Amino acid sequence: MSDDGALVLFSGGQDSTTCLAWALARFPRVETLGFDYGQRHRVELDGRGRLRAGLGRIDPDWAGRLGEDHTLSLDALGAVSETALTRETEIGFEASGLPNTFVPGRNLVFLTFAAALAYRRGLRHLVGGMCETDFSGYPDCRDDTIKALQVALNLGMDRRFVLHTPLMWIDKAETWRLADRLGGQPLVDLIVEDSHTCYRGERGQRHAWGYGCGTCPACDLRAKGYSRYRAEAA
Ligand code: ZN
Repeated sequence: MSDDGALVLFSGGQDSTTCLAWALARFPRVETLGFDYGQRHRVELDGRGRLRAGLGRIDPDWAGRLGEDHTLSLDALGAVSETALTRETEIGFEASGLPNTFVPGRNLVFLTFAAALAYRRGLRHLVGGMCETDFSGYPDCRDDTIKALQVALNLGMDRRFVLHTPLMWIDKAETWRLADRLGGQPLVDLIVEDSHTCYRGERGQRHAWGYGCGTCPACDLRAKGYSRYRAEAA
């Protein structure tokens, strides 16, 4: 197995696009993986091709490193989860304190499928946008969850996968700043124009920070992070 290839969990959102740029700046071979699980914000999957092409235009080295794109259908995940991400219900909080956008075990399933694909593709590094700082309380975004999963995957597949989560300890303003550092204004512009964050899947209205309903928790985080990033850059 080659030691230097990476597979990026790439949904087409702000976080995963920043992670993809991070990986392209680091690894000589980078492949991408998207999941379709019946999410309401499925529109984010449509932007993936535009984002990959845009990243290739930003830096010729990145273009040379960017390899195959994969999409996996995980209908079963949608079938077992009653959440506001997969049903037409209002986004809010449940009695447990978790937002009702929580899809139980989503990242565990994603990373397990990613590892299975990486095994077959001979890729050692798995990169995901999980983050504890802005994580809305999703327990499968915790650093400890990811570290435990790395151990489980390596035991269960007899490999030495390395799970990377470059956004784990930074907030949304710092995520914008990281994009700026990696690809300058062209990368920030690409993320604003073509990445999708809105949980409701709306792309009607263009704000300074991109498209979205502007009021769901995902839009709110992205908008607040963007204005803090702009204020600090000024
Ligand atoms: Zn929204």
